[in-house]
Amino acid sequence: MMIFRTCAVFAAFFLSLPTASEAQSNGGNSAVTVTVAPEESGNWSVVYSFEEPQAVLAFARSSNDYREATWTLETDEARFGRVAGVDVIVFDDEVREAKFSIIPLTSSLEADYTPFVAFTDGSLAIYEGQFSLIPFDSLDDVEALEGDLEASDRDPIAMTIKVASDKKIIVDGKIAGSRLSHAIKGDGTYIYMGDSNIEPFDSFVAVLDKTLPAWLGERFDDDLEQIFSEFERRWGFKLKNKATVMLAYKGGQGQKLSATGGALDQLLMMEVGGAALNSEDPDTLSYLKWFFAHEAVHLFQSEKGIQFSDDESAWIHEGAANTMSYSLIAASMGERGEQFLASVYSNAFDSCAAALAKGSLETVSKRGDFSANYACGDFIALATDGFLKRRTLYEFWDSLVDSAVSMEEPRIDADLYFTTMQLAGATGAQRRQIRRIVEDKQANPREALTKLLEDADLNPQFSAGGQLISLDWPDYSAE
Ligand SMILES: [Zn+2]
Repeated sequence: MMIFRTCAVFAAFFLSLPTASEAQSNGGNSAVTVTVAPEESGNWSVVYSFEEPQAVLAFARSSNDYREATWTLETDEARFGRVAGVDVIVFDDEVREAKFSIIPLTSSLEADYTPFVAFTDGSLAIYEGQFSLIPFDSLDDVEALEGDLEASDRDPIAMTIKVASDKKIIVDGKIAGSRLSHAIKGDGTYIYMGDSNIEPFDSFVAVLDKTLPAWLGERFDDDLEQIFSEFERRWGFKLKNKATVMLAYKGGQGQKLSATGGALDQLLMMEVGGAALNSEDPDTLSYLKWFFAHEAVHLFQSEKGIQFSDDESAWIHEGAANTMSYSLIAASMGERGEQFLASVYSNAFDSCAAALAKGSLETVSKRGDFSANYACGDFIALATDGFLKRRTLYEFWDSLVDSAVSMEEPRIDADLYFTTMQLAGATGAQRRQIRRIVEDKQANPREALTKLLEDADLNPQFSAGGQLISLDWPDYSAE
C-alpha cells in the first residue's frame, strides 16, 4: 500500500523559472566559456576561460553546500571556498582561467536541480546552471549579501558551456552534434548524453531511460498526454513550444518510491526509482501521475516568461501547482478520487500546521522547511479560489501572470498576489487573513488554517482525532 506521505518527496520538488532577461543572446562571443569533460578517475574537469581577468566570482546557485566536498580547484592563482553561504572563487590579478576537478553530484538537492542526473541505462544529463557565476568587485560585497544572492542586482556573467561526447547529445529538444557549444540562458537547462531517441508526442517530446520498468514505459506517454491535454483545457491555452520530458530511472532498490524533479524552460527533468516501481500498482501510479502533473503545471505557469522568487514566495507557485495537480489526478480516478484527496490533504494539513508553529510561511525556506511551501501554499490556493467571486484558480492565475508580464521585471511575488486577489474581488479581510499566515508566526496554526478554510467556504471536516478528513474541493473537471 502506497502512502502519500513521503515528505522527502515533497521536499525534493522545487521550481526555478527562466529569467526573462536572457544572460546573452547566443553563443560565440560570450565572455566566459566553461569546458566540461570526464576525467579517467571518474571525476569531471570543469575549466573556465575568461576573456577579461576576474576579481571575485560567486556561484549563482549556492543555496546548497555540496561544492565544498566535491569541487577541487586546481588553479594556483585563485582560491575557492564557501563564504557566508555562497561558493566563491577569488582570483589573483590578471588571471583568466580557473580549473576544477569535480566529483559529479548525482543526488538530489533541496530546492535546486540535481547537478548530474545519472540514468540507469548509462545516459547522463548535466545541469548547466550549476556552472553559472556572478561577478563581484570584492569578497566583502559577497559577504554583505549574507547568502541572499537574489538581493544583489548583479546578473550572472554570460557563459557558453562546451561538452563533447561519443554518445548522442540532446539539448533544447534537439539532437546536437558530438561537440556542443551552448549558451547558458537564465537558469540553464540539461544537456543529455546517451543512446535514447527523442520520442515525439502531441504535446511534448520525451527522452526516456531505456531501463524503465515495462509497465511504466508502456503507459507513460498516454498518461502524460492526458495530463497535458487536460491542463491545456483547464488553462485555456496550449504551450507555444513542445516541452521536453526527460525521465531517468534510478533503479528498483531502496526506499519504496522516490520521485524528484524540476521544471526548467520547456524542460521537465524527472527522476523516479524505488521498489514500489517494480510492479504496477494503482496508488503508485496515481502518485507518479500527480508528480508529473505538478511539474507540468510549472510549464503553464511560466509560459509567458515570468520569474518566481525561490524563497519567501515559493508558496505561490508550488501551492497552486499542488492544488491543480491534485484536483486533476483526483478527477481521473473516479470514485477513488475523494479518498486520494482526503489522504493527501490530511497529511498536508498536519505538515503545514507543524511548519507554521515554528514561524511564518515566508520564512520556511530559510528554516530548511521548504516542503511547507507545497502544503501551506496548497491551502492558500484553495482559499484564494474560495474567496474569488468566480471560483476559478485558473482565471486568477491568468490575471496574476498578465499583471506580472506587464511589469518591467516580470516577477510574481506576494504583493502582486494580494493585489491580484483584490482586483478579482477578494475583500481586505480575506486578503489579510492569508497575509497573516504568510507573514506572521501563528500562535495556533491549526486554528488559523481551519478558520481560513471555513471562511473560504471549503467546509473542512475533521475526525475525532483531529485529522482533516474532507473539504469541499473545487471541481475543474468540466468547465
Ligand atoms: Zn513544484
